[in-house]
Amino acid sequence: EMPPVKGDVVFNDVTFGYTPKQTIFEHLSFHVKPGETIALVGPTGAGKSTVINLISRFYDVNDGEILIDGMDIRNVTLNSLRNQMGVMLQDTFIFSGTILDNIRYGKLDATEEEVMEAAKIVRAHEFIINMKDGYRTVIKERGSTLSAGQRQLISFARTLLSDPKVLILDEATSSIDTQTEIILQEGLDRLLEGRTAFIIAHRLSTIKNSSRIFYIADKKIQESGSHDEL
Ligand code: ATP
Ligand code: MG
Repeated sequence: EMPPVKGDVVFNDVTFGYTPKQTIFEHLSFHVKPGETIALVGPTGAGKSTVINLISRFYDVNDGEILIDGMDIRNVTLNSLRNQMGVMLQDTFIFSGTILDNIRYGKLDATEEEVMEAAKIVRAHEFIINMKDGYRTVIKERGSTLSAGQRQLISFARTLLSDPKVLILDEATSSIDTQTEIILQEGLDRLLEGRTAFIIAHRLSTIKNSSRIFYIADKKIQESGSHDEL
Protein backbone atom coordinates (compact mmCIF):
# COMPACT_ATOMS: atom_id res chain seq x y z
CA GLU A 1 0.00 0.00 0.00
CA MET A 2 1.23 3.46 -0.83
CA PRO A 3 0.44 5.91 2.00
CA PRO A 4 -0.85 9.40 1.12
CA VAL A 5 1.98 11.28 -0.61
CA LYS A 6 3.08 14.90 -0.96
CA GLY A 7 3.91 14.44 -4.64
CA ASP A 8 7.72 14.39 -4.77
CA VAL A 9 8.77 12.62 -8.00
CA VAL A 10 12.27 11.40 -8.80
CA PHE A 11 13.64 9.67 -11.90
CA ASN A 12 16.98 8.21 -10.94
CA ASP A 13 19.20 7.10 -13.83
CA VAL A 14 16.29 5.67 -15.78
CA THR A 15 16.86 3.68 -18.94
CA PHE A 16 13.81 2.43 -20.81
CA GLY A 17 12.80 0.99 -24.15
CA TYR A 18 9.58 -0.67 -25.26
CA THR A 19 11.78 -3.23 -27.00
CA PRO A 20 15.32 -4.27 -26.03
CA LYS A 21 16.70 -2.96 -29.33
CA GLN A 22 15.44 0.61 -29.13
CA THR A 23 15.80 2.69 -25.99
CA ILE A 24 13.61 5.75 -25.55
CA PHE A 25 15.51 7.14 -22.53
CA GLU A 26 19.05 6.54 -21.34
CA HIS A 27 20.29 7.52 -17.89
CA LEU A 28 17.48 9.97 -17.36
CA SER A 29 17.42 11.74 -13.99
CA PHE A 30 15.26 14.57 -12.64
CA HIS A 31 13.62 15.68 -9.41
CA VAL A 32 10.21 17.32 -9.30
CA LYS A 33 9.16 18.82 -5.97
CA PRO A 34 5.65 18.77 -4.55
CA GLY A 35 3.43 21.38 -6.18
CA GLU A 36 5.55 21.94 -9.28
CA THR A 37 3.99 22.02 -12.75
CA ILE A 38 6.17 20.48 -15.44
CA ALA A 39 5.42 21.12 -19.10
CA LEU A 40 6.61 18.25 -21.29
CA VAL A 41 7.40 19.39 -24.81
CA GLY A 42 9.32 18.00 -27.75
CA PRO A 43 8.91 16.50 -31.20
CA THR A 44 6.47 13.74 -31.98
CA GLY A 45 7.80 10.34 -30.97
CA ALA A 46 10.37 11.87 -28.58
CA GLY A 47 8.94 10.18 -25.49
CA LYS A 48 6.50 12.60 -23.83
CA SER A 49 3.77 9.99 -23.40
CA THR A 50 6.42 7.51 -22.34
CA VAL A 51 7.33 9.65 -19.30
CA ILE A 52 3.67 9.45 -18.31
CA ASN A 53 3.49 5.70 -18.99
CA LEU A 54 6.44 5.19 -16.67
CA ILE A 55 5.17 7.37 -13.79
CA SER A 56 1.80 5.60 -13.82
CA ARG A 57 3.67 2.32 -14.18
CA PHE A 58 2.06 1.07 -17.34
CA TYR A 59 5.62 -0.04 -18.09
CA ASP A 60 8.58 -0.77 -15.83
CA VAL A 61 11.97 0.81 -16.29
CA ASN A 62 14.77 -1.41 -17.61
CA ASP A 63 17.30 0.21 -15.36
CA GLY A 64 17.26 2.84 -12.63
CA GLU A 65 14.28 3.73 -10.46
CA ILE A 66 11.28 6.01 -10.15
CA LEU A 67 10.51 7.26 -6.65
CA ILE A 68 7.41 8.99 -5.36
CA ASP A 69 8.00 10.52 -1.93
CA GLY A 70 11.08 8.34 -1.78
CA MET A 71 9.18 5.10 -2.44
CA ASP A 72 10.13 2.97 -5.43
CA ILE A 73 6.87 2.68 -7.37
CA ARG A 74 7.61 -1.02 -7.97
CA ASN A 75 7.28 -1.62 -4.22
CA VAL A 76 3.66 -0.52 -3.87
CA THR A 77 0.46 -1.98 -5.28
CA LEU A 78 -0.67 -0.62 -8.64
CA ASN A 79 -4.03 0.28 -7.16
CA SER A 80 -2.61 2.31 -4.32
CA LEU A 81 -0.18 4.03 -6.71
CA ARG A 82 -2.89 4.98 -9.18
CA ASN A 83 -5.20 6.15 -6.41
CA GLN A 84 -2.74 8.97 -5.78
CA MET A 85 -2.69 9.96 -9.44
CA GLY A 86 -5.10 11.75 -11.68
CA VAL A 87 -4.56 10.91 -15.31
CA MET A 88 -6.33 13.06 -17.89
CA LEU A 89 -5.71 11.88 -21.41
CA GLN A 90 -6.55 13.72 -24.63
CA ASP A 91 -9.64 11.67 -25.16
CA THR A 92 -11.60 12.27 -21.97
CA PHE A 93 -13.49 9.19 -20.86
CA ILE A 94 -17.17 10.09 -21.07
CA PHE A 95 -19.92 7.52 -20.61
CA SER A 96 -23.54 7.67 -21.56
CA GLY A 97 -25.29 9.31 -18.63
CA THR A 98 -25.83 12.64 -16.92
CA ILE A 99 -23.12 15.25 -16.54
CA LEU A 100 -23.58 14.82 -12.79
CA ASP A 101 -22.69 11.13 -12.94
CA ASN A 102 -19.82 11.72 -15.33
CA ILE A 103 -18.20 14.16 -12.89
CA ARG A 104 -19.09 12.01 -9.88
CA TYR A 105 -17.10 9.19 -11.47
CA GLY A 106 -14.09 10.79 -9.72
CA LYS A 107 -15.60 10.08 -6.29
CA LEU A 108 -18.58 7.78 -6.43
CA ASP A 109 -20.02 8.80 -3.06
CA ALA A 110 -19.86 12.54 -3.77
CA THR A 111 -23.07 14.47 -3.13
CA GLU A 112 -24.65 16.68 -5.78
CA GLU A 113 -23.39 19.69 -3.82
CA GLU A 114 -19.83 18.40 -3.88
CA VAL A 115 -20.05 17.81 -7.63
CA MET A 116 -21.32 21.35 -8.19
CA GLU A 117 -18.66 22.80 -5.91
CA ALA A 118 -15.92 21.02 -7.88
CA ALA A 119 -17.41 22.17 -11.18
CA LYS A 120 -17.50 25.76 -9.94
CA ILE A 121 -13.86 25.69 -8.86
CA VAL A 122 -12.60 24.49 -12.25
CA ARG A 123 -15.00 26.80 -14.15
CA ALA A 124 -17.15 24.03 -15.62
CA HIS A 125 -20.31 25.16 -13.83
CA GLU A 126 -21.20 27.95 -16.25
CA PHE A 127 -21.47 25.85 -19.39
CA ILE A 128 -23.29 23.08 -17.52
CA ILE A 129 -26.08 25.26 -16.17
CA ASN A 130 -26.59 26.64 -19.66
CA MET A 131 -27.38 23.17 -21.00
CA LYS A 132 -30.96 21.97 -21.41
CA ASP A 133 -31.22 20.03 -18.16
CA GLY A 134 -28.19 21.43 -16.37
CA TYR A 135 -26.34 18.79 -14.37
CA ARG A 136 -29.07 16.29 -15.33
CA THR A 137 -28.37 16.69 -19.05
CA VAL A 138 -27.72 13.27 -20.52
CA ILE A 139 -24.66 13.10 -22.72
CA LYS A 140 -23.91 10.45 -25.25
CA GLU A 141 -21.11 7.98 -24.98
CA ARG A 142 -17.73 9.59 -25.78
CA GLY A 143 -19.33 12.99 -25.27
CA SER A 144 -19.95 13.63 -28.93
CA THR A 145 -22.50 16.30 -28.07
CA LEU A 146 -19.90 18.31 -26.16
CA SER A 147 -17.04 20.44 -27.44
CA ALA A 148 -13.44 19.41 -26.77
CA GLY A 149 -13.12 22.25 -24.26
CA GLN A 150 -16.29 21.16 -22.44
CA ARG A 151 -15.07 17.56 -22.23
CA GLN A 152 -11.80 18.80 -20.77
CA LEU A 153 -13.67 20.89 -18.17
CA ILE A 154 -15.66 17.80 -17.14
CA SER A 155 -12.45 15.89 -16.68
CA PHE A 156 -11.02 18.76 -14.58
CA ALA A 157 -14.07 18.63 -12.29
CA ARG A 158 -13.92 14.86 -12.06
CA THR A 159 -10.22 14.93 -11.23
CA LEU A 160 -10.66 17.64 -8.60
CA LEU A 161 -13.21 15.42 -6.86
CA SER A 162 -10.80 12.50 -6.79
CA ASP A 163 -8.17 14.85 -5.28
CA PRO A 164 -4.92 13.21 -6.47
CA LYS A 165 -1.52 14.59 -5.39
CA VAL A 166 0.12 13.82 -8.73
CA LEU A 167 -1.60 15.01 -11.87
CA ILE A 168 -0.94 13.95 -15.41
CA LEU A 169 -2.50 15.79 -18.30
CA ASP A 170 -2.17 15.18 -22.00
CA GLU A 171 -3.67 18.36 -23.34
CA ALA A 172 -6.15 18.10 -26.18
CA THR A 173 -4.71 19.20 -29.50
CA SER A 174 -7.95 20.22 -31.12
CA SER A 175 -8.22 23.89 -31.71
CA ILE A 176 -10.28 25.89 -29.27
CA ASP A 177 -11.32 29.50 -29.33
CA THR A 178 -9.61 32.17 -27.24
CA GLN A 179 -12.46 32.51 -24.76
CA THR A 180 -12.48 28.76 -24.07
CA GLU A 181 -8.71 28.78 -23.74
CA ILE A 182 -8.96 31.45 -21.03
CA ILE A 183 -11.58 29.43 -19.15
CA LEU A 184 -9.54 26.23 -19.47
CA GLN A 185 -6.42 27.97 -18.19
CA GLU A 186 -8.28 29.36 -15.19
CA GLY A 187 -9.83 25.98 -14.45
CA LEU A 188 -6.49 24.24 -14.81
CA ASP A 189 -4.77 26.75 -12.51
CA ARG A 190 -7.30 25.99 -9.77
CA LEU A 191 -6.96 22.25 -10.30
CA LEU A 192 -3.17 22.44 -10.09
CA GLU A 193 -3.09 24.18 -6.72
CA GLY A 194 -1.26 22.01 -4.21
CA ARG A 195 -0.52 19.22 -6.70
CA THR A 196 2.49 18.05 -8.67
CA ALA A 197 1.68 18.00 -12.37
CA PHE A 198 3.13 16.71 -15.61
CA ILE A 199 1.46 18.26 -18.61
CA ILE A 200 2.06 17.32 -22.21
CA ALA A 201 1.50 20.87 -23.24
CA HIS A 202 0.15 21.98 -26.59
CA ARG A 203 -1.03 25.41 -25.58
CA LEU A 204 1.40 28.26 -25.13
CA SER A 205 -0.64 29.50 -22.17
CA THR A 206 -0.02 26.21 -20.34
CA ILE A 207 3.70 26.35 -21.07
CA LYS A 208 3.86 29.94 -19.82
CA ASN A 209 2.15 29.00 -16.58
CA SER A 210 4.34 25.99 -15.75
CA SER A 211 7.15 26.10 -13.21
CA ARG A 212 9.63 24.28 -15.46
CA ILE A 213 9.77 23.04 -19.03
CA PHE A 214 11.22 19.66 -19.93
CA TYR A 215 12.20 19.56 -23.57
CA ILE A 216 12.49 15.91 -24.58
CA ALA A 217 14.75 14.94 -27.47
CA ASP A 218 17.58 12.51 -28.18
CA LYS A 219 16.67 10.15 -25.29
CA LYS A 220 17.19 12.93 -22.78
CA ILE A 221 15.47 15.83 -21.15
CA GLN A 222 16.85 19.30 -21.58
CA GLU A 223 15.52 21.44 -18.85
CA SER A 224 14.61 25.02 -19.24
CA GLY A 225 13.51 27.26 -16.41
CA SER A 226 10.97 29.37 -18.19
CA HIS A 227 9.43 29.52 -21.61
CA ASP A 228 11.55 32.55 -22.54
CA GLU A 229 14.63 30.34 -22.58
CA LEU A 230 13.24 28.04 -25.26
P1 ATP B 1 3.54 12.41 -29.72
O1 ATP B 1 3.86 13.88 -29.62
O2 ATP B 1 3.36 12.00 -31.12
O3 ATP B 1 2.43 11.97 -28.83
P2 ATP B 1 5.45 11.28 -27.81
O4 ATP B 1 6.55 12.24 -27.49
O5 ATP B 1 4.35 11.17 -26.83
O6 ATP B 1 4.89 11.62 -29.26
P3 ATP B 1 5.85 8.47 -27.28
O7 ATP B 1 4.45 8.03 -27.45
O8 ATP B 1 6.35 8.56 -25.88
O9 ATP B 1 6.13 9.86 -28.04
O10 ATP B 1 6.74 7.47 -28.12
C1 ATP B 1 8.16 7.42 -28.05
C2 ATP B 1 8.64 6.34 -28.98
O11 ATP B 1 8.23 5.06 -28.48
C3 ATP B 1 8.10 6.42 -30.41
O12 ATP B 1 9.13 6.04 -31.27
C4 ATP B 1 6.98 5.41 -30.44
O13 ATP B 1 6.86 4.85 -31.72
C5 ATP B 1 7.45 4.36 -29.45
N1 ATP B 1 6.32 3.74 -28.72
C6 ATP B 1 5.35 4.39 -28.04
N2 ATP B 1 4.51 3.52 -27.44
C7 ATP B 1 4.95 2.30 -27.75
C8 ATP B 1 4.53 0.98 -27.44
N3 ATP B 1 3.45 0.77 -26.67
N4 ATP B 1 5.23 -0.06 -27.94
C9 ATP B 1 6.32 0.14 -28.71
N5 ATP B 1 6.79 1.36 -29.04
C10 ATP B 1 6.12 2.42 -28.58
MG1 MG C 1 2.25 11.31 -26.95
